[in-house]
Amino acid sequence: MRLVILGGPGAGKGTQAQKLCAHLNIPLIGTGDILRQAIAAQTELGRQAEPYVEKGELVPDPTMIEFIRKRVLESDAAGGWLLDGYPRTAFQAEELDFLLDDLGQQLDWAIWLEVPENVLMSRSISRARPDDLPEIVQRRIDLFYECTIPIMEYYEHRHRLLKIDAYQPPAQIQQDILKVLNPSKI
Ligand code: AMP
Repeated sequence: MRLVILGGPGAGKGTQAQKLCAHLNIPLIGTGDILRQAIAAQTELGRQAEPYVEKGELVPDPTMIEFIRKRVLESDAAGGWLLDGYPRTAFQAEELDFLLDDLGQQLDWAIWLEVPENVLMSRSISRARPDDLPEIVQRRIDLFYECTIPIMEYYEHRHRLLKIDAYQPPAQIQQDILKVLNPSKI
């Protein structure tokens, strides 16, 4: 199964992505974490990404798409994968489809964890990290909607968008996702 997970800051994306990968036995490809590790190890990818990641800017598309191409061709990804952090823009969503076309593969679903905006705000603030001040959280939420709505529209148009009510207990959210992805196995 080939999946993308989308959701705002505080939507519970990390938790759901990990559970889903364990259940489906597919690797979780989290671009933010992979880039941070690559920078720490000063690999070729890390050196290319570093000036962008340290400013919170998007790493240029050619670097990202080349990385995704190599990653999905690794042996552990043969049976599928879940991407978290990619695509970040509708352009990247389109690039992913081009790449998969090239490989004779297809994305199964883009899972959208839908949570009301005021809940995203209160969950993020309750984490009480230094960058979780209300105005900073609001900025992250605004940016998220700005970039993510075009991605949702991209997938909705192609009948690949799976909207999940994520304002529920985590176990229920997981059940709802699996009901659609894997109805015979739950
Ligand atoms: P994150 O942990 O998902 O917030 O990602 C950390 C940083 O990695 C971002 O601020 C970007 O610099 C970079 N990054 C992660 N995913 C992407 C992507 N799909 N496209 C471009 N840059 C990315």
